Amino acid sequence: MSRASIRRDPTSMSKTLQAIRGMNDILPEEAELWEQFEELVRDWLRAYGYKPIRMPLVEPTPLFARAIGEVTDIVEKEMYSFTDGLNGEPLTLRPEGTASCVRAVLQHNLLYDSPRRLCYMGPMFRHERPQKGRYRQFHQVGVEALGYAGPDIDAEQILMCARLWNDLGLDDIRLEINSLGQPEERAQHRGDLIAYLEQHQERLDGDGQRRLHSNPLRILDSKNPDMQALIEGAPKLMDYLGEASLKHFEGVQAVLRDSGIPYRINPRLVRGLDYYNLTVVEWVTDRLGAQGTVCAGGRYDGLVAQLGGRPAPACGFAMGIERLLALWLDSGNRGQTIAPDVYVVHQGDAAAASAVKVAERLRDVGFTVVLHCGGGSFKSQMKRADGSGAVVAVIIGDDEVAAGEVTIKPLREEAEQRRVKLDAVDDVVGAWLFGGDEDDGDI
Ligand code: ATP
Ligand code: MG
Repeated sequence: MSRASIRRDPTSMSKTLQAIRGMNDILPEEAELWEQFEELVRDWLRAYGYKPIRMPLVEPTPLFARAIGEVTDIVEKEMYSFTDGLNGEPLTLRPEGTASCVRAVLQHNLLYDSPRRLCYMGPMFRHERPQKGRYRQFHQVGVEALGYAGPDIDAEQILMCARLWNDLGLDDIRLEINSLGQPEERAQHRGDLIAYLEQHQERLDGDGQRRLHSNPLRILDSKNPDMQALIEGAPKLMDYLGEASLKHFEGVQAVLRDSGIPYRINPRLVRGLDYYNLTVVEWVTDRLGAQGTVCAGGRYDGLVAQLGGRPAPACGFAMGIERLLALWLDSGNRGQTIAPDVYVVHQGDAAAASAVKVAERLRDVGFTVVLHCGGGSFKSQMKRADGSGAVVAVIIGDDEVAAGEVTIKPLREEAEQRRVKLDAVDDVVGAWLFGGDEDDGDI
């Protein structure tokens, strides 16, 4: 639409604009909960030695086609792809973080002298049908360990998740694992699987027909009840794993058993993304309805080479923040209410000038302070102070200014307000907030 036609469009000014379907505003109260969650997550990531990395939200489209695979749900139908209007470059809003992370690692040669534990947090974009727990802009915490080949890191990432669930007070997320073996083992299984499915082609649904030759492993993951008997009888990938693959899988399980982490081997657990091999992991809950997977990951030893790097093994996972937060709330967490310590109320020009100084002085010593802005009567300002949730109000009027004092009024307890000298204000506020004696509360 040209500028002129936007100006002429009679509806464009009167209609309130809405966010894109499936892309949510996170309003202040909820956003505070997000921040608490993110703080907890950052501490947890640090505790395991993961270093943050931040990648762009937009990448060249071929990155995802190459990394994720042409015949996956994501690349086939879920990507927000568009052409850069200025230079014609095909671009995509990132649907996941692993491809971007590996791209960044290769571009900046981060693996040149040692393996890396990396993590990131942020929005991802997929054009799916929005519903509870499934959005078009959603958020993930992603973890990638690059350059590690052994089952120790696979197991550590599982232990790590178990700790986070514990930190969040979530006790009903169960662990499912599987091994996808190596590409050659998968190829053998794939041949037999296609032969088996071809014999029963009439029992395949539309998706199954479509995937029969492109991505038959995904058929095993179908939720269609009519296909379950067919899937039960299909050749099992586990039976095709060679000694080394089985040893790796056993290595992961040994640590889990040793650490007392319950798990179930789910032979039908495959990943939607093509770059996985060996260990696959999902954490699932029954409390979120159909969108029950809160975290998914595993090993992807082929990806670094697939993106043009010197071959390097890798293992990672991504968790859905919206789903975890829904579970956190469902488990009774309400988050802490975040309120300022102090609300500063003032009237008159001299009082306003003093109020700025008092507020800054209180912030200097670490209090959170809301300074009333916008004028109004003492009564209306006190209403705001109360509504802010602050523990005390600091009140400054002409009298206080003349005496070089302020009035401190507790808002959450029945107690008398007090006049104190300006230079005692932080001690007295501190005494109110934390109890105890102020140093020099000369009244
Ligand atoms: P699903 O089977 O639910 O579509 P997926 O296999 O596509 O999940 P992954 O690509 O493995 O998901 O992403 C890891 C995690 O990110 C998921 O387990 C889920 O918690 C979350 N997630 C994925 N897609 C969405 C979405 N559209 N909205 C909200 N969370 C999502
Ligand atoms: Mg999906």
